[in-house]
Amino acid sequence: MNSTELANLIFPNAKEISYYEEKYKTRDLSEGALVTRYAPSPTGFNHIGGVMQAMIAQKLAKQTGGKYIVRIEDTDQKREVENAAEQIMQNLKDFDLLPDESIWQEGQYGPYKQSQRAEIYQAYAKSLIEKGLAYPCFCSSEDLEQIRTNQESAKERTGYYGKWTKCRNMPIDMAADKIKAGEPYIIRFKSPGNPEKKIKHKDAIKGNIDLPENDQDIVIIKSDGLPTFHFAHAVDDHLMGVNLVNRSDEWIPSVPLHLQLFYTLGFKSPKYAHTAPMMKMEGESRRKLSKRKDPEANAGYYREIGVPKEAVKEYLMNIANSNFEMWRKQNPDKPMDEFPFDLKKMGVAGALFDLVKMLDVAKNVISRYSAQEVYDEAYDWAKEYDEELLQLLENKEYSLKVLGIERGNAKPRKDIAKWSDLKNAISYMYEFDKENTHFEYQKITDPAEIDKIVKMYFEKYYDPKDDKQTWFDKMKDLAEELGYSREVKEYKANPDAYRGHVGDISTVIRVKLTGRCQTPDLYEIMQVLGKEEILRRI
Ligand code: GLU
Repeated sequence: MNSTELANLIFPNAKEISYYEEKYKTRDLSEGALVTRYAPSPTGFNHIGGVMQAMIAQKLAKQTGGKYIVRIEDTDQKREVENAAEQIMQNLKDFDLLPDESIWQEGQYGPYKQSQRAEIYQAYAKSLIEKGLAYPCFCSSEDLEQIRTNQESAKERTGYYGKWTKCRNMPIDMAADKIKAGEPYIIRFKSPGNPEKKIKHKDAIKGNIDLPENDQDIVIIKSDGLPTFHFAHAVDDHLMGVNLVNRSDEWIPSVPLHLQLFYTLGFKSPKYAHTAPMMKMEGESRRKLSKRKDPEANAGYYREIGVPKEAVKEYLMNIANSNFEMWRKQNPDKPMDEFPFDLKKMGVAGALFDLVKMLDVAKNVISRYSAQEVYDEAYDWAKEYDEELLQLLENKEYSLKVLGIERGNAKPRKDIAKWSDLKNAISYMYEFDKENTHFEYQKITDPAEIDKIVKMYFEKYYDPKDDKQTWFDKMKDLAEELGYSREVKEYKANPDAYRGHVGDISTVIRVKLTGRCQTPDLYEIMQVLGKEEILRRI
């Protein structure tokens, strides 16, 4: 028997690889167009680092007129978590990161789920067997255990390589007999590598790296007929026309194997861009942001607490590209899409992921929103997560006025980082407990003095038709009449001459009307509350 007959015995129904080469045509894209992909395994929720990978993949494809694909890598079916693939897709959708092609957007290079591509991998494995570049291996787990023990006692590297490869040189007839007799087997790659030699890998992020050649005869098709991750990576990225692979740097040690697979299969290898993991401070030391320990590692977390997707992405872009912050300063109003992303500006070492900084970014992002945008996003969020906020927002016309306070001007309010902050930031505009006498009045605390200030203000000065300047002048007149300074600095220069300053007076009015000593602009608040409500509150 020859190797072609062996290949036919193993994969009698597999098609010729020319069928697939013909079916999946070279993409008709212009020079320099990048075809990228995000390739999650459906083993749980999407890590925030995965969102960053997807964002980079999308950005590079868009920027170069290429394509961005999402491929579900579910060949390890034991680790698969039910529904995870759908959840990952939904999560990408929540971040506006849906690709050009995926299980949700069938393109011409599908299926986009590896478990549905079994016949494709088998065809390529068959072609390798025909050429003597792959072989069936009958080693049981006990055999492999034995090899390992022998290697350990001989103080040699572990694995299936070189002289330890029991089945590599098995005569074809013997292999065929075993197969016919029903012995279980898998297919291994016959590695041509020599680890004494180095390969030069030129990474788009990490630069030049020397790595030892691979000599492991890795499994390419498992006993369930599905490929291993490595083999599927080579076949899929080739057939899907991917030319840039951005992924986590934990895959760097596999690069020699991957390049060898591409080469042996006769494929052009993609460019690799390996990104460092996100880090977190724990006490004095840094560690990887962990799915197990850190809620913020879960990409779904941000939707739950209501950080706008735009803010999450801005923050990730901050981490990803060192020059983004500068660009944002120079272009405060441009959409992030216009930022020219550059792989060369990616950090080689892991960046710190800092939730507090992300929330700062979110405050800025939300400060640029119009009242209508705040309303729409917050309403959507509240529908799912906050019944009480939803109740407030049901009054749309009034809510738009409330949300318009200190918005759309040169110094917009920046106190909201996430929709879960919103209720507390605006609730006093809707409900007010007049009986509550325990407000923090700060400087002026004497109830008689407070009553006097409030009474005089509303009897003598308050006129809802006043413009802002008049309103403010009147506040000063009131201060003066009661023995407080008109300006803060007058008081500071001569504290004994006054009972306090105009700010103390306006705080009394503020607290009386809102129950809080810190709010956005009091004039605007009073305009929105309106006379009737104001009088009710006092
Ligand atoms: N499925 C692999 C993972 O989830 C993808 C690695 C790659 O992007 O090549 O880590």
